[in-house]
Amino acid sequence: MEEKKCVLCQRTQYEVPLIEMVYKGKSLNICPQHIPVLIHEPQKLATILPDAENFGAG
Ligand SMILES: [Zn+2]
Repeated sequence: MEEKKCVLCQRTQYEVPLIEMVYKGKSLNICPQHIPVLIHEPQKLATILPDAENFGAG
């Protein structure tokens, strides 16, 4: 099983609390420190998550 770690900083659940997200059938984890990136700069996730740039739309 793949180790859970933040998609942005690669820290693991043993270093920081991780929030699990499910997107298009894929499970992803992000740390609280990077939640603002997800909210305010989703385009930064676009290389990791296809279509992430559309998160804020509609
Ligand atoms: Zn992080």
